[in-house]
Amino acid sequence: MYTSTRATTPQSLSFEEVVMTGLAPDGGLYLPSSIPKIPIADWSSLSFQDLAFQIMRLYIPSSEIPDSHLSSLISKSYASFKSDEITPLYNVNENLYLLELFHGPTYAFKDVALQFVGNLFEYFLQRKKSNPITVVGATSGDTGSAAIYGLRAKKDVKVFILYPTGRISPIQELQMSTVPDENVHALSVNGTFDDCQDIVKAIFADKSFASYNVAAVNSINWARILAQITYYFYAFYRVKGTVRFVVPSGNFGDILAGYFAYRMGLPIDKLIIATNENDILDRFLKSGVYAKGSSVKSTHSPAMDILVSSNFERLLWYLAEGSDSERGGTVCSYMDSLKREGSFSVPNSVLSQAREIFDSSSVTNDATIATIKKFYASHKYVIDPHTAVGVNTALRFLENHPATYISLSTAHPAKFSEPVNKALASFPEYSFDKIIPDDLKRLSSLKKRVTYVDASLEAVENAIKHLY
Ligand SMILES: *Cc1c(COP(=O)(O)O)cnc(C)c1O
Repeated sequence: MYTSTRATTPQSLSFEEVVMTGLAPDGGLYLPSSIPKIPIADWSSLSFQDLAFQIMRLYIPSSEIPDSHLSSLISKSYASFKSDEITPLYNVNENLYLLELFHGPTYAFKDVALQFVGNLFEYFLQRKKSNPITVVGATSGDTGSAAIYGLRAKKDVKVFILYPTGRISPIQELQMSTVPDENVHALSVNGTFDDCQDIVKAIFADKSFASYNVAAVNSINWARILAQITYYFYAFYRVKGTVRFVVPSGNFGDILAGYFAYRMGLPIDKLIIATNENDILDRFLKSGVYAKGSSVKSTHSPAMDILVSSNFERLLWYLAEGSDSERGGTVCSYMDSLKREGSFSVPNSVLSQAREIFDSSSVTNDATIATIKKFYASHKYVIDPHTAVGVNTALRFLENHPATYISLSTAHPAKFSEPVNKALASFPEYSFDKIIPDDLKRLSSLKKRVTYVDASLEAVENAIKHLY
């Protein structure tokens, strides 16, 4: 059923293998070689959970997870959400909606996928009665907290998340360090995010550490993409007619789920990529050249601060021509050139195929702040800086092309208080205290459990051994 984006001979891997290994041994990403078409009309009245079931059922054979197990995994995963609708739509006006994806336990869209992935890991591990796994990850913020909340208290899973001391937002740090569950450990590393990432890579490569069964929950796990397809369908059924989705993008995971929805038959007119100043995707769509910049810019929307978009490789596979193996060969040559020269370009036929469904725009830091301010002035609704990148793009597209736009709202504004407070400082009635949810407010009174470590492989491995 599944293959790697870099496979040059036919492959047929199970869903379980794909989820538990994450990255393919050839360095590629896993994907289903064919995308199922669906009966659009039949699903219009389903709840979020029932839609998730119908969609996931098409990608997970019942021989691997029987119906009753799949539906209980889904209901368990979304029981932690604060909205009955899971991902409700906020109607701004007749042309614009916000799809609120931040009602999960860590207030970021990553919960939609990681709550499910945590349950899936536990399900497969318990069934196989295999040895416990040790999830090790580096985070600059959102992924780490969502992974911790997805994996807390899960049987047979230990979690160690590394983050750079003093370089993530205070709320993100509190989220990671106040979880009381014994299987979860926040490691505050005396270094940068790159140091954290290098140490994680070194742990994965260290043979003497293999007995810990090290595993990853990074943005390329197929199950994350799968779980995100649901909300495109859910939103579509709640508005009339053809829609355009605007997606604040970094690693291209969120919008890739929209591409799957489109290929499954959902009548999406355009998927619009909204980037911050780290604009590799926008530059690609305008030129056909995918070129890595020299360094990551640090912006008001840090969860989208990337040099390359890891999930983009999956789209390239679907856009490539020929048999599965020929596509694999094409992707290998693109990735080779990216590694050696820092860029690659695609033929016009590939670019025009991409442009049929995708469009794009990039948004500066100043425009992000201005959009938070303007949106609050007009609608008395506070958006976070990631969401603002999407809203800025949606408003500009709307001027030239009236249609129904659904802009994805990827985080709660209280998570990124600094730029939000800056944008709204001139409104006398605004105060941060009014927007911060009670459970986030309470975090600062909880007991903190953090281990401070030096930025070296030895120090981090010793900490893991000690805490294990
Ligand atoms: C991760 C994240 C994004 C970017 O999503 P990708 O799947 O990496 O494109 C956008 N907004 C927020 C708040 C995020 O946490």
